[in-house]
Amino acid sequence: MMRYPEHADPVITLTSGPVNAYAQVLRGLGRTVLYDYDPAFQLLYENVVNKAQQAMRLSNRPVILHGEPVLGLEAAAASLIAPDDVVLNLASGVYGKGFGYWAKRYSPHLIEIEVPYNEAIDPQEVEAMLKAHPEITIVSVCHHDTPSGTINPIDAIGALVSAHGGYLIVDAVSSFGGMKTHPEDCKADIYVTGPNKCLGAPPGLTMMGVSERAWSKMKANPLAPRASMLSIVDWQNAWSRHEPFPFTPSVSEINGLDVALDLYLDEGPEAVWARHTLTAKAMRAGVTAMGLSIWAASDWIASPTTTAVRTPEGVDEKLLRQAARARYGVVFSSGRGETLGKLTRIGHMGPTAQPIYAIAALTALGGAMNALGQKLAIGKGIEAALAIIDADA
Ligand SMILES: *Cc1c(COP(=O)(O)O)cnc(C)c1O
Repeated sequence: MMRYPEHADPVITLTSGPVNAYAQVLRGLGRTVLYDYDPAFQLLYENVVNKAQQAMRLSNRPVILHGEPVLGLEAAAASLIAPDDVVLNLASGVYGKGFGYWAKRYSPHLIEIEVPYNEAIDPQEVEAMLKAHPEITIVSVCHHDTPSGTINPIDAIGALVSAHGGYLIVDAVSSFGGMKTHPEDCKADIYVTGPNKCLGAPPGLTMMGVSERAWSKMKANPLAPRASMLSIVDWQNAWSRHEPFPFTPSVSEINGLDVALDLYLDEGPEAVWARHTLTAKAMRAGVTAMGLSIWAASDWIASPTTTAVRTPEGVDEKLLRQAARARYGVVFSSGRGETLGKLTRIGHMGPTAQPIYAIAALTALGGAMNALGQKLAIGKGIEAALAIIDADA
């Protein structure tokens, strides 16, 4: 059956990033493309950085880099990690593990704590590792390892790293904006996020919080990239309308981010986080009630911005997503790397962090599963999800 052929747009995109952008953001992207040195653009840029500072609850200005957040992560490794640094990389999933490969490029001294990709990092293990290795200077961690839909306790980890005197690099790309997390809450020295997940804007920019001591360390690192797309230091003063840009900024993406930040701040971060939490909670209740399992080993590490559903025995995960799209026009995300084929991800990010989308997702997921031979109690799943949603009303 091909009600929704592949060459046509789907009806609903419920992915874990990139996500469907807010309609207002799409209109913002259509604003005039100003010359980057036009005073109107320089003022806009300064205002956008100030709004990002407010959203990130930072005491200093964040940096915007002009590529999607992988640029920010790679730039953080290149700029902060010097050859004599000893890096402790915490890996609970594909992104956490991946950061270790970048770290290794800039320092040969890499230690890792790795846990199964449906579990989270235990702060007690981090504490023991820091005690056993006083030479550790930098710790890196992914907050929400998206291909697993699991959350690491970064505030607790950050407190330990700070007490140790180390620098902390945090990948908060798919958690910031969808739950309570800010760079200074976890004492991050570099905190990388972006507009393309919970802020509901397209991929194309990195937003980065940088502590004062991280600025000093990067500026003192002779190998930190300069005159390069990977440079962070070059952009330190670009927020000011009186300072030049090192390279041409992505003008349209800045327009989109401007609107996305207004939406986030006007709705109120607490209200935004609450609808992410509720959507995910309804989704998890529905998934288990219809007879499927959540990938995360325990409920309290399950992400409020993505639900990862374990693929049942005998189901081909790729065919499952194809069936959901072809029959209902609903798009889900697959796993990545080690989790590919083992789970299906339903994103609750930005505009799709609305409880009614949990109902739509459960219907499409259950329908596609049953089309592939499962015998799920879809109605029970819907009722369980609706009960969660109504209890909150
Ligand atoms: C989305 C995401 C990124 C950015 O990488 P993509 O190329 O968009 O996949 C980085 N880290 C995490 C945890 C993410 O979810």
